[in-house]
Amino acid sequence: MTTSPAHAPAGPASTGGRPRVVIIGSGFGGLFAAQALRRAPVDVTLIGKTSHHLFQPLLYQVATGILSEGEIAPPTREVLRRQRNARVVLGEVTGIDLTARTVTSTVLGRTTVHPYDELVVAAGAGQSYFGNDRFAEFAPGMKSVDDALELRGRIFGAFELAELADDPAEIDRLLTFVVVGAGPTGVEMAGQIAELAHRTLRHDFRRIDPTTARVVLLDAAPVVLPAFGEKLGDGARRHLNKIGVEVQLGAMVTDVDADGIEIKDGDGQVRRINAATKVWAAGVQASPLGRLLGEQTGAEVDRAGRIAVQPDLTLPGHPEVHVVGDMAKLDELPGVAQVAIQGGRYAADQIRRRIAGREPRGPFHYDDKGNMATISRFSAVADIKGLRFQGFTAWVLWLVVHLFYIIGFKSRITTVLHWAVSFLGRGRSQRVATQQQVYGRLALEHVGPGFSASKTGGRRPAVTAGEDRTGRESA
Ligand SMILES: Cc1cc2nc3c(=O)[nH]c(=O)nc-3n(C[C@H](O)[C@H](O)[C@H](O)COP(=O)(O)OP(=O)(O)OC[C@H]3O[C@@H](n4cnc5c(N)ncnc54)[C@H](O)[C@@H]3O)c2cc1C
Repeated sequence: MTTSPAHAPAGPASTGGRPRVVIIGSGFGGLFAAQALRRAPVDVTLIGKTSHHLFQPLLYQVATGILSEGEIAPPTREVLRRQRNARVVLGEVTGIDLTARTVTSTVLGRTTVHPYDELVVAAGAGQSYFGNDRFAEFAPGMKSVDDALELRGRIFGAFELAELADDPAEIDRLLTFVVVGAGPTGVEMAGQIAELAHRTLRHDFRRIDPTTARVVLLDAAPVVLPAFGEKLGDGARRHLNKIGVEVQLGAMVTDVDADGIEIKDGDGQVRRINAATKVWAAGVQASPLGRLLGEQTGAEVDRAGRIAVQPDLTLPGHPEVHVVGDMAKLDELPGVAQVAIQGGRYAADQIRRRIAGREPRGPFHYDDKGNMATISRFSAVADIKGLRFQGFTAWVLWLVVHLFYIIGFKSRITTVLHWAVSFLGRGRSQRVATQQQVYGRLALEHVGPGFSASKTGGRRPAVTAGEDRTGRESA
């Protein structure tokens, strides 16, 4: 490994020592690949844009004050502290050279080049605004800890501002919450905002009545939770209505601004909802590293940025490069945690076999363990190997599965305590909302990427005109 100012070392990557495995990403694919190499005679370097692993399925609970960010985002370094063959490096991968077999990462202007013998790319996906990135200013997505904390600040802040307002129209605007996208994240988010307004906050204010808050869940598709089938989707829609969520389907978002959202309905009518808080839970775009790899290998990259991989999750002509999780496109596999976990473990197994001179395994086969989404406390939908559950049974299943996959003993205990506070009682343990949460992202985008480096002793990156200035992940 070389650190800046540096250039990739030329020549073959192998040094004659233990094979070097570089893993990009500390999410589900990357972390489970690293752990599966625990006993392999290799040196693993895991490069992550953030210093934590993130359990994305529970981000909505951080946004709505149920859990703290620490419970769903353990430090990757701590998770791997006993794995002697693994090293964790903070940095955003900006370059991959498949010929020189090197990966280049940067953090605060410091550039590092990592040579590899085997590479696992698991950089996941970000939010997609379907070509309307300007919506992001007013409707944050739900992809990172920063996103969840910003939304928490915006949601709780809207109630605070409503308590101060005199104009009824302004109070209505502040107490209207619009969630775009009726997939699992949107449904969970809308359900939790409704519970927050109707249960948690109902006695906390003197001038406003939080139970009058309007929560709207909208989607251009005609159904809720399309991946769960018509029956469960319909059940979820009815339950959402019961807990006070207005579900508007066939509604396409055409504009978003500070004061509200513009929608075009199926009949072509354009209308507007005035709402202070907008949440974007629609659409994903795979990491730009997919396109970078596509350019070097000729592998197809689809509109969502996913790179087509071989049946063994490698790239054409590069059996040493494995792409797993949300970035990989194979047989229409869904973008879910289990695909990434199983893909990461499969890639680790292929690496172990190659090193031991054993025959490669057959093609990657995804074992679909099922889909789940919560709607409110005590109510969820689950589709497990064709068996469909709804209501309390599904919610208990959801609870057990999520606890099982939360990483770390400490996190499991505190998560159970916080769930008890929110689901058995009315409270929320994590209601802190700071100005930094609400304004930090937009302020950083405004001052540009050189700012953080200049204030922390890092090297200042050169910014060229027209460059994308949005770095949306937290360390
Ligand atoms: C809000 C939300 C809710 C979800 N709910 C569910 C659910 O209930 N059930 C389910 O199965 N799935 C759910 N998913 C999907 C699931 O989380 C993803 O499918 C899964 O995380 C994909 O794993 P991955 O390893 O491909 O990517 P990720 O887990 O996203 O990990 C990508 C990693 O790469 C890092 N990274 C990105 N770019 C770079 C770079 N250039 N350099 C270095 N590091 C980089 C990121 O920081 C991150 O650590 C949800 C996703 C979201 C956003």
